[in-house]
Amino acid sequence: MSQYPGRDRRAVRHRGPSGTPRVRDPRTALVVGGGIAGLTAATALAERGVGVTLLESGDRLGGRVAAWPLDDGRTMSRGFHAFFRQYYNLRGLLARIDPQLGFLVPIEDYPLQRPDGLRDSFTGLATTPPWSVMQFVLRSPSFTLGSLAKVDVAAALELLRVRFPDTYSAYDGESAAQFLDRLRFPPDARDLALEVFARSFFADPKEFAAGELVAMFHTYFMGSAEGLLFDVPDDDYDTALWAPLGRHVAGLGVDVQLGRTVESIGLAQGSACVVVDGEQLDADAVVLATDPRSSRALIGELGGSGLGGWQRRVAGTVNAPPFVVVRLWLDRPVDAERPAFVGTSGYGPLDNVSVLERFEAGAARWAEANGGSVVELHAYACAPEVATDGAARDAVVERLESELHRIFPETRTAGVAHREVLVRDDCTLIGPQRWMDRPGVRTPSPRLVLAGDWVRCDYPVALMERAATTGFVAANALLEGWGAQGHDLWTVPMTGILAR
Ligand SMILES: Cc1cc2nc3c(=O)[nH]c(=O)nc-3n(C[C@H](O)[C@H](O)[C@H](O)COP(=O)(O)OP(=O)(O)OC[C@H]3O[C@@H](n4cnc5c(N)ncnc54)[C@H](O)[C@@H]3O)c2cc1C
Repeated sequence: MSQYPGRDRRAVRHRGPSGTPRVRDPRTALVVGGGIAGLTAATALAERGVGVTLLESGDRLGGRVAAWPLDDGRTMSRGFHAFFRQYYNLRGLLARIDPQLGFLVPIEDYPLQRPDGLRDSFTGLATTPPWSVMQFVLRSPSFTLGSLAKVDVAAALELLRVRFPDTYSAYDGESAAQFLDRLRFPPDARDLALEVFARSFFADPKEFAAGELVAMFHTYFMGSAEGLLFDVPDDDYDTALWAPLGRHVAGLGVDVQLGRTVESIGLAQGSACVVVDGEQLDADAVVLATDPRSSRALIGELGGSGLGGWQRRVAGTVNAPPFVVVRLWLDRPVDAERPAFVGTSGYGPLDNVSVLERFEAGAARWAEANGGSVVELHAYACAPEVATDGAARDAVVERLESELHRIFPETRTAGVAHREVLVRDDCTLIGPQRWMDRPGVRTPSPRLVLAGDWVRCDYPVALMERAATTGFVAANALLEGWGAQGHDLWTVPMTGILAR
C-alpha cells in the first residue's frame, strides 16, 4: 500500500504531537457542533481515550453537508458538494467508515460552460504540475495566443512561488478581483475558470481574499498532482456518510446528542462547561465547532479576563451573502449525454447544475420509477434581500429554472413533479482583511479550541477540508496539553514549484 494519501508524491505529512497512545488520566471534552469539524474533533479525541460528548442543535449530523428524508423516499440536502482528491484529512476521517472509501464515486468530467459555447474541461489532463496547467491552457478555448501574450508574467509567477502560510498574509488587503486585474488574465478565462472558483466560496471576487484564491490555484492546479477532479457520495449524505460515521463515533464511546443547542460556554481555571436546555455540562475542555455566526454569538457572550482582543477579532469575521439551492424532480429525463455536474458562467445567477441520478442511488431509484430526472441548481453570492424577502427569493428561483431551460433545452417541456428550495447565508466570507486577524484554532484559554471552515489554518486547505483539518488540529492541541499522541495530517505541498 502506498505511504501517500493520494497519487501526489509531493504531498506533505505534518506530524501530530508525540505522547502516550491514549490519555493517561481520564479526560473529558464537549464538542459543540456535529458538522465535519465537530465530527473530526470528536473522532480524533475519542480515539485517544478522551470521554467525548458531541452536542448538535439539528436533528442530523453533517452540518452544511447534512441530508434529510422527505416524503415518499425522496431526500433533500444542503446542496451538491465536491469531494476533491486532495481533501486528504477529510478522506482520512471518512476512511474510518470504509478504508477504501467505497461510498465515493468519481465524477469523470467537470465541464465549465458559457452561453457563447466556450467550454473547458479538467478531464484527461497530465497529472503532474506544471504540465497539467500547460496542457489545460493549450487545450482551453478560453486562452488564445493573443490574450496569453498580455498576461503579466511576474504576477503569474507568483502563483508558482507560494509558500504557506506566509502567502495568505502576503496578499493582505488585495481582493481576488484586484489580483486577477493585476494578472491581466484573458477575460474569457477569468470569467470561466476564476469567477466560478471565487463564487464557489460564496463570494463576489471583489470581496474575496486574493490569498485564498492563490491558495486555491496552488491546491487544485499549480501545486498538486491530484488535479481538479473530484468524487461524490453514491447516495444522500446521511445514508452514505453521516449515519455510518455517527455509528462509528458512538462505537468509540462518543455520546452523540442531537437536538441539543448550546446556549452558552463557560471557562474556569480548571474546567470548562456549556449550558444546554438550561442544564450545565462540565468537562476538561470545549471544542467549539459551530458555524461562523453561532460561533460569533457564543464567543461574544463569553465572560473572563484577557479575552477582549480575541473576542473583537472573532466579532470582526463576517458571513458571505446568501445562496440558493433548488432541487427539481422533473417528469422527463435530461438528455443522456448531460454530465453529472456542470459549472456555469454567464447564465445569470446560475453557478452550477448537477444531475443527481447520475451518482445518488436514491435519486436514481426515483428517476427510474418516474421516468424523470433529479436536477439541482445553485446560485451563490446572491443579493442580501434574497435571504429575507420572499419575492426576491422567488425571482431567483424562477430565473434559475429559466437558465436551466437555456443550458439543457430539453427541460423546457418537462413538468416539475416536486421542488425543494433552500436559502441560507451560513457560510463564512474570507475577505481581503489581514489574514492573521482571523481567529485560529487556539484561543486565549487552553480549555477552549475552535474548529470549522471559518477558522484560520496555516495549511493550503479550504471549505470542507479546512473544517476537517481544523477539527484534527483542535483535537491535537488538547491532546498535546494532556500528553497524548496527536494525529498526523496531510496536505498538498506547502510551497509552489518555483519557491526558493
Ligand atoms: C451549497 C453549498 C455547497 C458547498 N459545496 C462545497 C464543495 O463542493 N466543496 C467543499 O469543500 N465545500 C463546499 N461547501 C462548504 C462546506 O459545506 C463547509 O465548508 C463545511 O460543511 C463546513 O463544516 P463545519 O463543520 O465547519 O461547519 P457546519 O457544517 O456549519 O457545522 C456546524 C454545526 O454546528 C451546529 N450548531 C450551530 N450552533 C450550535 C449550537 N449553539 N449548539 C449546538 N450545535 C450548533 C450546526 O447545526 C452545524 O451542524 C458548500 C457549502 C454549501 C452551503
